[in-house]
Amino acid sequence: MHEAETRATARRAMEICNACRYCEGYCAVFPAMELRRTFTDGDLDYLANLCHDCRGCYYSCQYAPPHEFGVNLPRTFAELRQVTWVEHAWPRAGARLFARNGLVVALAAALGVALVLLLTMALQPADVLFGVHRAPGAFYVVIPMAAMVAVAGVTFGFALLAMLATVVRFWRATGSGGLPRGRPLLRALGDVLTLRNLGGGGQGCNDVDEGFSQTRRWLHHCLFYGFGLCFASTTVAAGYEHLLGLRAPYPFWSWPVVLGTLGGLGMVIGTIGLFALKLAGDAAPRAPRLLGADVALLALLGMTAATGLVLLALRATGAMGVLLAVHLGFVLALFLAMPYSRFMHGAFRAAALLRNAMEHEPTDAR
Ligand code: SF4
Ligand code: SF4
Repeated sequence: MHEAETRATARRAMEICNACRYCEGYCAVFPAMELRRTFTDGDLDYLANLCHDCRGCYYSCQYAPPHEFGVNLPRTFAELRQVTWVEHAWPRAGARLFARNGLVVALAAALGVALVLLLTMALQPADVLFGVHRAPGAFYVVIPMAAMVAVAGVTFGFALLAMLATVVRFWRATGSGGLPRGRPLLRALGDVLTLRNLGGGGQGCNDVDEGFSQTRRWLHHCLFYGFGLCFASTTVAAGYEHLLGLRAPYPFWSWPVVLGTLGGLGMVIGTIGLFALKLAGDAAPRAPRLLGADVALLALLGMTAATGLVLLALRATGAMGVLLAVHLGFVLALFLAMPYSRFMHGAFRAAALLRNAMEHEPTDAR
């Protein structure tokens, strides 16, 4: 019922916009909309995920509230995006988790931290847990490497599988077009890496009110590339360990530590900044019932990065054991929550950008 109402609101808004077309230069949504005269459910799901929530159209719209048409694309599309994440979630049982994804993130965080911390305390004597360990292999004195690799491998592997299956379901539901390749793939990759649609044609987004700014775009970059650097740090560290036989903890100027430090700082700056923008932002174009899920995910990402930085700073002290357990608890929680939280918005948006690039390819090639 809620899904049907949300789609009906989106369809009505798209029909009004398709007649008006005032915003056609604002973002990728409007040119994609103009390729259609009617809007299937798949079309609406695609357009909603193509929207980057820049809010430019809301502040320009002569039909926005209090006008009787009540066109509010940022809010309407935000609510429809949530519907699409729930509908395409894999496995099906995950859809129920998605529907309450703020709660899921909070529970995953509590469970992950409690589980790793309690298990570590139960299995290690106090002199090991609170001892000072500095020699190569120090982390594995507190939590054996085999346990770390097994838990991380299973949870991260499942998260990747679930995310991939969910995006494939979304891809199939939003149209045909076969497998992407060549120029559309490069164009979509460029859109993802530069967040071009948050640039508002050069002047930026309406982050807080009618004023334009690039702040939200740069904060997203901090979070996105920070996450990527942390992932690169873990991958390089695994190479050091298994290919070169070098055991953690690594020196401060080693690649894993430099990448992880820069990535962690980027994630902390990105999450705090995006949280501040949410608090300061105009509530009118926002979907109020999704705020909890947004904040919960930002908090989980921020805590994962912050606990990693604190662990780095205090790794040569007796606090290392507890900090390691807490940090790994947040990492585990992040892996558990990834496929069923707002984390998926990046994957859905990338798929929508790819479909958009494929739609425009025949036109561009002429
Ligand atoms: S958002 Fe408003 S001004 Fe922009 S195209 Fe739609 S109806 Fe027209
Ligand atoms: S909020 Fe921004 S990205 Fe979304 S439809 Fe409006 S102009 Fe496009």
